[in-house]
Amino acid sequence: MKLTPENYYSQEANEYYMSVSQYKDFLKCEAAALAKVKGEYQDIKKDALLLGSYVHAALESEEAFDLFKSDNAEIYTAKKELKAPYKMANKMIDSVLSDDLCNIVLEGDKEVILTAELFGIPWKAKLDVLNRWNGRFTDIKTVKGIRDKYWNGQRYVSFIQQYQYDVQMSVYAEIERLSGVENPDYLEPTILAVSKEDVPDKEIIYFDTELIQEKLREVSGNIGRVMSVKRGDEQPVGCGKCDYCKSRKKLDGMTYYLDLLEAI
Ligand SMILES: [Zn+2]
Repeated sequence: MKLTPENYYSQEANEYYMSVSQYKDFLKCEAAALAKVKGEYQDIKKDALLLGSYVHAALESEEAFDLFKSDNAEIYTAKKELKAPYKMANKMIDSVLSDDLCNIVLEGDKEVILTAELFGIPWKAKLDVLNRWNGRFTDIKTVKGIRDKYWNGQRYVSFIQQYQYDVQMSVYAEIERLSGVENPDYLEPTILAVSKEDVPDKEIIYFDTELIQEKLREVSGNIGRVMSVKRGDEQPVGCGKCDYCKSRKKLDGMTYYLDLLEAI
């Protein structure tokens, strides 16, 4: 299947290809992930996602930004003024574009679609910025706070680990390496992070080859189960906590008050 900007997010493309976001969906909740692949369930387009897309479009090109603004009337009030979150997003964009190093990592081809076979299955990826000449690719992330800590059940982690952006960067590096260009080495993955704060913070975050190899081993260990559920060979297990599971929840008993904080 040939991918284009138009069909990249289509159901057909999601059925044929694995992607990092699909993989992460399956690890979070197999039942919801499978329903999403089959087109039976859709995540609600959250405001945070639209804000992220606004910033992405602005950092991609003037044409992409103009197109985004004309396609998404909901970013304006009835008086045709930009809504408050997007005024904040403009500060984020200015903060990035006024920085020399940010401008350097934003140089390159934008929104590049790549495909490759990893672990015996076809994968797709869309890289925000690909610059093979400089040996680097960059993903833009809009985050609440760049140095925020998240409790993962065992220890505090950064937003990178919390949202598995380390997995994303590693898989993207491997897809790029395998995607047809003669390049035996990994490009350097970087994340350009900008925060949604009144005064936006920013960082360019880089990763090393050991991390890439470690995360690829992790994906390789999980992908068998993911694919057997996706192919229908094994039954999906619901997490019991996500919006999809809640929407289908049927009670089969009562809960003792002291059990409410127990893990499901
Ligand atoms: Zn669930």
